[in-house]
Amino acid sequence: MAETQKYTVRLEDLDTDFSEAVVKAGGERVHICLQCGVCAASCPIFKFNEALNPRIILRSAVLGLTNRTLYSNSIWLCAACYSCTERCPHGVQPTEVIRDSLIEATGAKCVNYVEKRLCCGAPIMGVDEKLSLEIVRDKLKSIQNVGVNAIVTICPFCHTHFDLNQVRLKEDYGETYGMSVLHYTQLLGLAQGYGSDDLGLYENRVPVDDLLGIV
Ligand code: SF4
Ligand code: SF4
Repeated sequence: MAETQKYTVRLEDLDTDFSEAVVKAGGERVHICLQCGVCAASCPIFKFNEALNPRIILRSAVLGLTNRTLYSNSIWLCAACYSCTERCPHGVQPTEVIRDSLIEATGAKCVNYVEKRLCCGAPIMGVDEKLSLEIVRDKLKSIQNVGVNAIVTICPFCHTHFDLNQVRLKEDYGETYGMSVLHYTQLLGLAQGYGSDDLGLYENRVPVDDLLGIV
């Protein structure tokens, strides 16, 4: 049986800015997490490494305990498989909280937009190209409206859809978004001081030069 974890919470450890960012990422439902543990039981990583416990990460993040979330090793183990989010009986979204925590750990700030939690449309490209492009087009419009420096993707397929298909949207709809798209590993590399060539930024279809001075 796993050892019970005890942790003393001190008021000075609570970061309300981070907590608010987490609530925005996971939505209001993060407050109705019952700590039931279904998410941990569903996590394929937790079975092998209990450091990645989405139940504890969620509670720590909502409290604003940055040391237990942003600056711990646990969130880096997440495979973004969405099992915890799919199986949570209360509609809480631990994956969203972990994903935004990973982005905030680089110093970047996450923002919300209407379709943030919806699919980009990439998986249906092979069966309905027009619909797939319309989905990503709607998302790009919403992202443009909230005003961001870049889109950060976790999934390589999402990355291709957002980046490469801005070229298609220009051809098909005559629309130019010019929205830089970084895969998460590229954002992390920039935050760690790696250069453009090291990170293959020249492969990105939408230029990311404007980002180099601010990341
Ligand atoms: S996030 Fe959902 S599954 Fe996980 S502990 Fe909270 S209510 Fe249970
Ligand atoms: S998304 Fe991450 S935390 Fe959730 S089940 Fe998958 S690996 Fe575990």
